[in-house]
Amino acid sequence: MTLGIDVGGTKILAARIEKGKIWEKWKFKTKNDEVIKIIEEIIERSAERVVGIGVPCYLRNGVCINAPNISEFNGKDLRHYFKRTIIMNDCTAMAYGEYVLRNEKYNSLLLVSLGTGVGAGLVFKGVPYIGKGSAMELGHIKGFSNRQCACGKTGCFETVVGGRYVEVEERAKRAMEGDKEAIEFMKEYGRAIARGLSYAIQLLDPEIVVFGGGISNAYELFIEPVKEELYGLLSFIDVDDIIFEKAKSEDSGAFGAALIAERRLL
Ligand SMILES: [Zn+2]
Repeated sequence: MTLGIDVGGTKILAARIEKGKIWEKWKFKTKNDEVIKIIEEIIERSAERVVGIGVPCYLRNGVCINAPNISEFNGKDLRHYFKRTIIMNDCTAMAYGEYVLRNEKYNSLLLVSLGTGVGAGLVFKGVPYIGKGSAMELGHIKGFSNRQCACGKTGCFETVVGGRYVEVEERAKRAMEGDKEAIEFMKEYGRAIARGLSYAIQLLDPEIVVFGGGISNAYELFIEPVKEELYGLLSFIDVDDIIFEKAKSEDSGAFGAALIAERRLL
């Protein structure tokens, strides 16, 4: 059995995995200044020998360079706290989980997570791609606004589509109830997603793009505007050749973290 842990800004999800399936799972609230303690306890209690942890951090060799949502992680070498574990970016874990949930059939899967912040993960030929450790930080491509970003720089893509900067979930709810202004907002929101996403698609030419994170619950409200805007933004790549889907599970972060650890992919 393998343990997978997905650390989010509001909740921590732990799942026990065997034979490619989740057998048991637990949810914990993310409490500031107690995140490390909570995770240590989960690991201790579970006695699993293989543990994978997905964290919302820019990582370099297990050291958390920056974690806008979990300040307790900032600057810490997480391997020192979570011994004998495989530590990875949460979107990398989510991307791999979604890849396996699709029977590992895609050659290139790009996951975009829309939540408090914006992240991305890539699975290419069955392996997660992380560069030197900080690849796929789609949320921090610059030139989108004049706003200060949680990463310390200005104008990141995240500042125009991240839940921390724009109120999306409330408007998505109103749009689903038929509120015209909210429906318009969601269309513009979709076009804004496309403007950042186009960079990733133009570079990677993925077979499938999967949207995860809390805001992806509004997938039906933004996906058509995303595609329409992409038609104008992409060169050489046909938007109709790309498969767009919503994440299959909210547990794919914990699931993917466990599988990456079990298969020793990082
Ligand atoms: Zn940023």
